[in-house]
Amino acid sequence: MDKLSFFKLQAKNLLKDFKTRFYNEKEQFFDYQPKHFDIGDLFLYFDYPDYKEDFTFTLMNAQHLIAKMVGYEKWDDLIHASEKELELAEYLLRKFKDSQDIQEWEESLTFSGIAKYGAEAILDYARWQDELDEKKKIVYLPKERISILSGKERKEALTQFDDEHNPAGTLRLDSIVYCKECRQSYEFSKSKVIKDSESNLSIAVCKNYPKCNCTYLEMKVLTPTILYGDYKIEQLKKGIKAFPRLTMDTKVHCLHCDQEYLFKEANVVISPDEDEPLIYCKNYPQCNGTLIDMIPVNKKNL
Ligand SMILES: [Zn+2]
Ligand SMILES: [Zn+2]
Repeated sequence: MDKLSFFKLQAKNLLKDFKTRFYNEKEQFFDYQPKHFDIGDLFLYFDYPDYKEDFTFTLMNAQHLIAKMVGYEKWDDLIHASEKELELAEYLLRKFKDSQDIQEWEESLTFSGIAKYGAEAILDYARWQDELDEKKKIVYLPKERISILSGKERKEALTQFDDEHNPAGTLRLDSIVYCKECRQSYEFSKSKVIKDSESNLSIAVCKNYPKCNCTYLEMKVLTPTILYGDYKIEQLKKGIKAFPRLTMDTKVHCLHCDQEYLFKEANVVISPDEDEPLIYCKNYPQCNGTLIDMIPVNKKNL
């Protein structure tokens, strides 16, 4: 089925759902017995006056609503979208059955800030998000299906995290985490990693699994974490933007510890109490100096 036929079929399905409309005498409102979408709920969400007796809903209206469900103003915009955008729209529509699905997706999209990177990136994100949702459910599966990983497999799982779905930006093996469910804090390296034998999905969970069903996503990270790699460089560049006299290779003098080093040697640290990572002295944690304490050493003045 080509993509347009898919959307046309969904509009027909929506119309079929509408045709199940009946007046619920007991509750005194119009109700439905839909097969495909929670149409009453969608009407409410998108502000359609279906409580009115003379409310009409045609195939054209159904197409319009389908377009709105996947973020388009009108049907015409949807059918003229690019190949990638249509792929994304189809993927989303397969998941969206009621307003809750749409709302959750919209919130997640806003929160992640991924929208500006285009349809392909959003699609990747949506798939990733789905996989994460599947992973989260593993803790509730029958224990016979679950194996607890050990050795290399376990260690690898504990060191691979995506920034966006990580309670502290980056979880490291030596981070101290707090499990809200069993109210214990421990080093993250003690966490268990469980794997579902049917789907092969795995996720890091509380060290007290199976007594505790918390996953790493619900854990609070108590220790400040030093960031590395691209994430660190990105933050240092933000620092340069704020203080244009700095470059990566600028020699700086730390007012706190009185030492000199290159700006690129500074640390980037995310603390549990801060929303944003901060730039700290090269000698962190011994030195508490931050970006504002780093004074460029001007060779001309020497
Ligand atoms: Zn726990
Ligand atoms: Zn210092």
